[in-house]
Amino acid sequence: MAIATISPTTGKTLRTFEVLSSEELERKLQRAADTFRSYRETSFADRARWMRRAAEILEVEAGRFGRMMTEEMGKPLEAAKAESIKSATACRYYVTRAEKLLRDSPIDVDGDTAFVRYQPLGPVLAIMPWNFPFWQVVRFAAPALMAGNVGLLKHASNVPQCAIALEEIFRTAGFPEGAFQSLFIETSEVNRVIEDPRVKAVTLTGSEGAGRAVGAAAGRAIKKVVLELGGSDPFIVMPSADLDKAVHTAVSARLINNGQSCIAAKRFIVAEPIAQEFERRFVERMKTMVVGDPMDPKTDVGPLATPGILEGLHAQVQESVKAGTRLLLGGKPQGGPGNFYPPTVLADPPPKAPAFHDELFGPVATLLRARDLEHAIELANATPFGLGASVWTQDANEQRRLIDGIEAGMVFVNALVASDARLPFGGVKHSGHGRELADLGIREFVNAKTVRIT
Ligand code: NDP
Repeated sequence: MAIATISPTTGKTLRTFEVLSSEELERKLQRAADTFRSYRETSFADRARWMRRAAEILEVEAGRFGRMMTEEMGKPLEAAKAESIKSATACRYYVTRAEKLLRDSPIDVDGDTAFVRYQPLGPVLAIMPWNFPFWQVVRFAAPALMAGNVGLLKHASNVPQCAIALEEIFRTAGFPEGAFQSLFIETSEVNRVIEDPRVKAVTLTGSEGAGRAVGAAAGRAIKKVVLELGGSDPFIVMPSADLDKAVHTAVSARLINNGQSCIAAKRFIVAEPIAQEFERRFVERMKTMVVGDPMDPKTDVGPLATPGILEGLHAQVQESVKAGTRLLLGGKPQGGPGNFYPPTVLADPPPKAPAFHDELFGPVATLLRARDLEHAIELANATPFGLGASVWTQDANEQRRLIDGIEAGMVFVNALVASDARLPFGGVKHSGHGRELADLGIREFVNAKTVRIT
C-alpha cells in the first residue's frame, strides 16, 4: 500500500489510505485556485488571527500530535511533543512580523517615487518529508499563508495521519476552505501538479534525488523552486574548545531525531592534539544511549523511519568498513521487529568510503582527524553538501576563518546547529537553494514587484 501508517517500532501496518482519483485531484487544484482569488484580498489582521489560533491548537494538542508523529515515524515521544510546540513558534513569529516584512520597501531614484511591493504568487506545492512531519510543513505554511499564498501539501507517504492533522489544524483555526489542502498522491503524480498552470511555485524538503527530479520539473515549467536537501554537516573541534561541552553536544547533535535530521552533525573533525581524548569520551557517551520503544520516556534513540532507511544506512556502514574505516561501536542492525539500529561510531574513513563523502541518515557518527585549522576546513568542505556546520573554538581568529572558509548555508560557533523561526535556514551546493524562515523565508514565494512613479 503506497500511503500508509506502518509502525517503525513493530513493523505492523496500522492504517492505509487511498490515493486521490484524477477527478478528486482536479477538484482540489481548482479549489486552491478559486480560494487564492479571495484569500489574497484578506487582511494581515485576519490572517494573523487565524495563524495565532493555529499556534494555540499546536500547543494545546501537542500530546495528541506527538503520539501521532511517534507512531508514524518513530521519534521519541517527548521530542515529538516538543516539535508540535516548536511549530507554534513559527506561526507566532509570522503573526507578529509578516505585515512588517512585506511592507513596501521604498527606494530613492532621482527624486521619483519608487518602491518594491511584495505580492503573493498563488497556490504553492510543498513536498515534505517524514523526519520532522509537523515542523517542516509549518515552517513552509506559516510564511506562505501569511504572505497571502495558498498551500498544497504532498506529504511523505509514511506520515498520512500527520498530513490530515495539519490540514485540520489550519481549517479549524479559521483559514478558508482551500487555503491549505493535503494531496494524497504518489510521486509519479507530482510532475503533473508542478506543470499545472494553477500551481505557481514549489518547495521540497527531502533527498538529493527528489531535489533533482522536482528541480528539473520546476525548471521545465519555469516555476520558482526552493530546495532543502540533505547534508553531511561537519562538527569541528579545535584544541581551545570546551571539550566536555563539545562531546555532550556532539552526541546530541548526531542522535537527534534517531539520527535522521538534515542538520544533524555527521562528520566530527577533531584537531590532532585532542583527537584521541575526544574519541574516547565520544564513544563512552554514545554507548550509554538507550535504544528502544520511542513511546518509552527512557528511550534516547528510537527506530529508523522505514526498513529502506535501515537497509541503506547499514549498506553505507558495511561499505565504509570494507574500504578501511575503523568501526569503534555498533555497526549491525539490532534484529527482531522494528527498524532499530544502534549508535555507531566510525573513524578515519578513506575518501572513497561513503562515511567520508555521503550523508548517513541514522545514528552513525564518523570521526576524522585534522592536522590544523586549514586541514579541518578542507575536510569540512570535502563533500558535495553544504547545509550547516558547528565549530568549536575559543580563538577569535579561528572563529573568523571558519565562518569565512566553510562552504555551508549556516555556521554555528560553540553551539548545536538548530532551526529557529528567527534565523534563515537553507544550504548551498547539493544541500539545495533558497531559504526558509525569518525575513528571507517569507520573501521566497512573493512577486517582488518594482514600481516607479515619475
Ligand atoms: P525523499 O526525498 O524520497 O522524500 C521526501 C519527499 O519527497 C516525500 O514526500 C517523497 O514522497 C517525495 N519524493 C521522493 N521522490 C520524489 C520525486 N522523484 N518527485 C517528487 N517527489 C518525490 O526522502 P526519503 O524518505 O527517501 O529519505 C531518503 C533520504 O532523503 C535520506 O536518507 C536523507 O538523505 C534525505 N532526506 C533529507 C531530509 C531533509 O530534512 N533534508 C528529510 C528526509 C530525507 P514519498 O514519501 O511518497 O516517496
